[in-house]
Amino acid sequence: MPQTTIFDELESQVRSYCRNWPVVLATAAGSVVTDENGTEYLDFFAGAGVMNYGHNHPDLTEPLIDYLRSGAIVHSLDMHTAAKREFLESFREYVLTPRDLDYRVMFPGPTGTNSVESALKLARKVTGRQHILSFTNAFHGMTLGSLSVTGNAMKRQGAGVPLTNTSTMPYDQYLSGVADDFQWLERVLADSGSGVDLPAAIIVETVQGEGGLNAARPEWLRALQDLCRRYDILLIVDDVQAGVGRTGTYFSFEESGIVPDIVCLSKALSGYGLPMALTLIRPDLDQWEPGEHNGTFRGHNPAFVTGAAALKRFWADDTFQNEVQARAAELREGLEKIASGYPDAVVKGRGLLAGIEFPDKAAATRIAAESFRRGLLVETSGPDSEVLKAMPPLTITSQELQRGLGIIADAAAEVLG
Ligand code: PMP
Repeated sequence: MPQTTIFDELESQVRSYCRNWPVVLATAAGSVVTDENGTEYLDFFAGAGVMNYGHNHPDLTEPLIDYLRSGAIVHSLDMHTAAKREFLESFREYVLTPRDLDYRVMFPGPTGTNSVESALKLARKVTGRQHILSFTNAFHGMTLGSLSVTGNAMKRQGAGVPLTNTSTMPYDQYLSGVADDFQWLERVLADSGSGVDLPAAIIVETVQGEGGLNAARPEWLRALQDLCRRYDILLIVDDVQAGVGRTGTYFSFEESGIVPDIVCLSKALSGYGLPMALTLIRPDLDQWEPGEHNGTFRGHNPAFVTGAAALKRFWADDTFQNEVQARAAELREGLEKIASGYPDAVVKGRGLLAGIEFPDKAAATRIAAESFRRGLLVETSGPDSEVLKAMPPLTITSQELQRGLGIIADAAAEVLG
């Protein structure tokens, strides 16, 4: 007789699901997730960067319940609603205006890849060019357009056929580390006899969240922007994972001072795990006619409600940002301490999107599994899952952070001896 497992019906899911923590999750609060047996796990995963404000934050739960109880509209395609207006007002007041940014806002669909698709399509439409450049180890999503700019052989093979109209360039630190990284590209672009088509856009993550926590240097990002401006190439920053405070500022590119032409956001936008994506567009690029790009789930009002509440609660002044930066410094210090115990282990990433690359490529996966046994949800990053990736809620307390670091240290000692 086949043995029944705790999963039962859950085992009918497709093979492509890759998260295999052997528990059934039931409840969550802040930085702690609890399974159906009542076992608690500290969360260094944050729903892949969705739960930036922690799970079920009461300041977001209350307005959501009030909204639903009031009988207000839930689904509204791209129609006007009071909840959408309030979100847009809050986004302008707490995000765009204080940073002196001028963008038109588009809700491109429910999730990150919808934002990337809209950015790629719009760049092609307004420039009249086809080609998009991206970077090795980039991750931009799983639909055909976003996958075509994702620099990961295994994931690209999921399409079954070659993906066209894109090229991949080396990302910052794989090169010399000097500021002239783009000279070779410039030589190609400037050579009118080369016959190489000018790209419509370059898409970049400031920190490669899935691709190994490679963090671009600010001067490299500025050189990239400079190149784009000189050749009239649109610069798209994919802030789906690194945005919404993850690196210590609302946008991950603030530190570098660049101003992208298009910005992709999703994951933590609603602050509550409700699906939401947003594409910020330089006003003069707002060139789609009504209906040229649309979709059914472009206005999820419960997400607008929690999203607006999160903006008011966390971004009205610098208090939260300062706290995140303090936690990020603690995380970095803790990771450095652990890494120092293992020859050639390197700390990577930025803000609360940081981790350790171990020279033994299999180590991170084993440490993550051992951490789970010790009560910590933590994942890996990189083409060979070679980086242990710490991505806790931004609201994590100092105490919880230290507890998680302690678990990683013990798990690493267990695995690596
Ligand atoms: N861009 C980046 C940088 C991401 O990290 C992700 C998701 N991990 C995506 C795009 C795609 O988002 P989604 O999975 O919501 O489609």
